[in-house]
Amino acid sequence: MAAMRPALLLAIALLAVAFPAFSQNAAIQISQLRVADVPVHPLTHDTTDPTVAFPELFPMQVALYWSSDDENPLAMIHTLREMGVPFFVTRDIDQALRHRLIIIYPDVGPKTFTGPQIEALAQHIREGGSAFAVNALTGAVKPLFGFRDAVASRRRFRVDFVPNSDAILRYLNRAEEQSVPLGSTKYADIFWTNGYTPAANATVLARYDDGSAALVRNTIGQGSTYLCGISYHEVVLRNQVNRDYDAERHYANAFEPGADVWMLLLRAWYESNTPGGVRLASIPDGQDSVLLLSHDVDWENSFAPMLDFARMETAAHARSTFFIQTKYVSDANSVSFFYGKDLDYLRQIKALGGFTVGSHSIIHSRAFNRFDLGDGAESFPSYQPRGTGFDSATGATVFGEVRVSKELLDGNLAGQRTIFFRAGHLRFPPSLPEALVRTGYLFDSSFTADDVLTHFPYALPLGLDFDEDSGLYEFPLTFEDEEQPPLPQRIDAMLDVIRANAENQAINVILIHSNQAGPKLAAEQTLLRELPSDVTATDLQSFAEFWRGHERLRWEVQPGSAANKLRLVVTAAEAVSGITFEFQKAIAEVTGGARLLPDRHRIVLPALAAGENAAFDIGYAD
Ligand SMILES: [Zn+2]
Repeated sequence: MAAMRPALLLAIALLAVAFPAFSQNAAIQISQLRVADVPVHPLTHDTTDPTVAFPELFPMQVALYWSSDDENPLAMIHTLREMGVPFFVTRDIDQALRHRLIIIYPDVGPKTFTGPQIEALAQHIREGGSAFAVNALTGAVKPLFGFRDAVASRRRFRVDFVPNSDAILRYLNRAEEQSVPLGSTKYADIFWTNGYTPAANATVLARYDDGSAALVRNTIGQGSTYLCGISYHEVVLRNQVNRDYDAERHYANAFEPGADVWMLLLRAWYESNTPGGVRLASIPDGQDSVLLLSHDVDWENSFAPMLDFARMETAAHARSTFFIQTKYVSDANSVSFFYGKDLDYLRQIKALGGFTVGSHSIIHSRAFNRFDLGDGAESFPSYQPRGTGFDSATGATVFGEVRVSKELLDGNLAGQRTIFFRAGHLRFPPSLPEALVRTGYLFDSSFTADDVLTHFPYALPLGLDFDEDSGLYEFPLTFEDEEQPPLPQRIDAMLDVIRANAENQAINVILIHSNQAGPKLAAEQTLLRELPSDVTATDLQSFAEFWRGHERLRWEVQPGSAANKLRLVVTAAEAVSGITFEFQKAIAEVTGGARLLPDRHRIVLPALAAGENAAFDIGYAD
């Protein structure tokens, strides 16, 4: 993912040594850079019990029954939030049984349920409820979940869904979704999975590469159970923190929904089993997807072409986010360039309006993923990192790269508040979430979507671990401009990925380095012109701000004044516009200034202010 050609840049570095007058002039201008105050906050841990953080509010919520302390429910919480499915977390099965849909997670062991509780669950299903259970193993629940045997293994590497075998597979319409990797076969062992032998009356919806069942449906009375032999910890969260066993089929520029399919299963399960279900859509303004534009500016000659991209995007009614390398030191990789005319170009971009600026570190090191966190006292100009070779550096820390770059961007660009980061060469140290959140960042885009096997934004866990969220959101990168063939020859391939993501209401992020305009600008222009009408192009940061507002929206469905009415009540934690809700039933009318879309199944709320409470009365067509 390197923007810089080392040979060329080494030549430039040597030039600087040969012309000391240039270096002196640069040194003076660099010494005059202004520094904004960037406080370093203490690390806070969110220790709220999930049953308190996600309370029971209304009957349409899915009950997430947290069955065991062996594993926290974070993977399932990520899933349901990203899918916009209303839910609460409980450890009380009687409370769960008051809701039509119940997820039982992370497992069903011999001590999970008493005999009467199993019978109560079975009665709930017979009466039309549905349960989605993960890793049921105990004999007592075999009749309920429709299996005869379960065999644990760490040597299952792939899952093949049986197309059209159930409504919950509705979104898995593409080949890449119907067969998904769990890990690379170069490993002798990966994570544990359970392979089931189905009962005679049960239906297999997915199989592993060894032929055993990965997903089984059992129909009982009016309802159904689904049994999954893989923990979402392994196929959602493990991928999101990039601790997967090299499960991805591509690194970038392709459709890799290896984590998304498991989330989409639950979205479809909710939609197909909740009469009159309501869901918070992931894309604003009733659109199906977004193309989020970004440019990395990581070379001294990458600044002037920014203006060409910005003018073209403005004409196309789009904007972009520029990630700026704030290089004020000269080292083995390049001369310093964050001063003088390059800074002036950046000010011109800001003056155009609508364009956003993020940090792309200081020395843009291939060794960034191995840097120490640092102590947080790193500041300009005493922080003096140097790249010493292709993938080595001295004097550099993670805190230094994120904090000092923010000091300089915020200090030298009027009105700038740097909240978005992208690592050089997309190298990702485990301490990056901590360094970012403690220095006031909100967003990161340093993973590729294919590498983390998801095309949805997600809450980034602290330490790239499995325990708690950092408060940051990650926006994984779909397309980049350096892989071969060149961008102009990849437009149709990109449009196909964009359509695949639009089918799932997932996002697309594109990175185009501004080292030259020319054919890359022309390719971006063509891509913008050929975007499907239900896909909006905008800058990455504006969408990220929408996503944060969307994630922090509290909502509730209350009974309406008549049988065919309901009331949607929302509370916005921060200002957000374009919030879209989807309804399984057709709507006749809606109040409160919400806009009913022509399909009559979706409404777009008016812009909400921070802290605003609003209510919308929905009248159904019948
Ligand atoms: Zn870069």
